[in-house]
This record gives sequence, C-alpha cells and structure tokens, in this order.
Amino acid sequence: MSDPAHSLPGVTITVPTHPAPGGADAGQEPGQTRGRRLALSPSRASDFKQCPLLYRFRAIDRIPETSSKAQVKGTVVHAALEALFALPADQRVPERAGELVEPAWERALADSPDLADLIGPDERAKFLTEARRLVATYYRLEDPTRFDPEACELRVETELDDGVLLRGFVDRIDVSPTGLIRVVDYKTGRAPWELAESKALFQMKFYALVLLRTRGIVPARLQLLYLGDGQALTYDPDEGELRRFERTLSAIWQAIVEAGAEGDFRPNPGRLCDWCDHKTRCPAFGGTPPPYPGWPDVPTEESSEF
Ligand code: SF4
Repeated sequence: MSDPAHSLPGVTITVPTHPAPGGADAGQEPGQTRGRRLALSPSRASDFKQCPLLYRFRAIDRIPETSSKAQVKGTVVHAALEALFALPADQRVPERAGELVEPAWERALADSPDLADLIGPDERAKFLTEARRLVATYYRLEDPTRFDPEACELRVETELDDGVLLRGFVDRIDVSPTGLIRVVDYKTGRAPWELAESKALFQMKFYALVLLRTRGIVPARLQLLYLGDGQALTYDPDEGELRRFERTLSAIWQAIVEAGAEGDFRPNPGRLCDWCDHKTRCPAFGGTPPPYPGWPDVPTEESSEF
C-alpha cells in the first residue's frame, strides 16, 4: 500500500490498521531486536534489493520513520474498504462507502494521536475529500455488491524448505464458486511507472507463492487496483514461474543473512534516496549510521515481519 511520497520532518506516526509505511514500529528503540525472528516481506525484500543499508535501518535497527499524508491517506482508504466489505453485499453502495471514510480517519487518529500534527484541523476536510475520491474511484473498477470476499487484510505466512520465513498482508482474497483464487491489492497512487511496476509485480508474486505453499493451488489472478487513476494491473501466475521466484527469494534472504553476519549493509544511492528517511545517517550523504546492533537472536517462536 505504500506509495513513494515526500515525508514531513518531525512527525513519527504508526497507523496500526495497516502495516506501518516504513515498516518500523513507532516507540521501538533502534537495536531492540533481540528475541525476534526476522521474516521476509515484500517490502523488506524490495528494500534490500534497492539498498541494503535501507533494509538494515528498517528491519534490524527498526528506526521509526516519518509518515507522509499520502501514506496516511492510503491507510484510511484501506480501512474504509475493509469496513465496506464487512457490510452486507447490498449495502456496499458508493454513498455508504464514502460515509466510511471519516470513521476510518477517526479510528486512525485514536490509534495515533500524532496524526493531528500531520493533518491539522484546517487540512482535514480536504484530506477526507481526497480519501473519499479514492474510494469513489474504486467503483470504476469493481462492483462490491456482486461478490463476497473470502478475507480482507489477511496476514499470510509460510516457511520455505530452506527455512526462509515469508510473511505479508494481503488486502483481499476472493474465491470463486469453482475454487479459483483472486488476490487483490489496493494502491492509492496512480498506475505505476516502470520501477514501481516491477516492485508491484514482485509483491504480487510474493503473495501468490505464499498462497501456493499454504493452500496448494496457484492463484488464478493477482490484481492491483490503482485508485489514483482507476486502472488495474492483472497478473496470472503459473506454478513454474512461482517456483523460480521462490529460489529468487531464497537468494535474497541468503544475501541478507550474509550481510547481517558482519553488519555489512552498504548504501546503494539512487533516485529513491530523495524519499529516504535515513539520509542524514547515510554515509552516501555524509552521515554516520548508528552502531550495528547485531543480527537478532532467535530464542523463541516469536517472530517479526520487519
Ligand atoms: S539515502 Fe539512499 S543510499 Fe542512503 S540509506 Fe537511504 S536509500 Fe540507501
């Protein structure tokens, strides 16, 4: 659900209704990683591919990040759509969906009072109007009165044969009467440019692989719904491709573990650095990272995606 967006300095917010945009938990001190088993999520795998040091800051140091208005809006829209599907099918009409936006915002605010600093009273009406517009755009893509999803905001998890723990959150899973599975993910931005598209497909393949391993069938369709411009990106995976993707994830994890042994997470500057919260502590920009806290120990069954 995360869209690249400019962050506002000085505001650290985690909205619990959906995974935190930056993946770090607000309130957790850097280095507080003992006793949790790291899992690989689509976001963290993408982080490592983009920049190993970014992965370290998010997954191992767990340094809280600032959230942007766009990210918070995404969280609110996801929560409103989740609430929409909790209604009986015949009530899932556009007017009702629009009415669900403000309560979703209020819940987010109750969970994270700091949101009031990010979206002040003067901006709230505009913020809610924009969120309602995204929800209204959803109706250009689907008619939610015509089907019942199997699950919304579902946490999925599996362990690969070589021990890599995969975990993620799927926005929605639909199952047809004949048993075909469709995985749906909402994006509150516009249909992606090239780099974002490859990231989106990476995320979709990740979910497809987890479902293949947990349910024993290949999802028939993976669908990304872009609420910013009303476009959809679909992907119909095949099993051979997902098995190859499994090896790709194992290789990424192996590279993470090797980097983690020595704390050798190198910066990889690129065009996304402008959106990175960690620029001031990044050596590529003259900063100094905090001391490496070490790879998390795994003394219990406790584990963490991030
Ligand atoms: S600023 Fe760029 S190079 Fe540095 S940690 Fe962030 S993404 Fe990596």
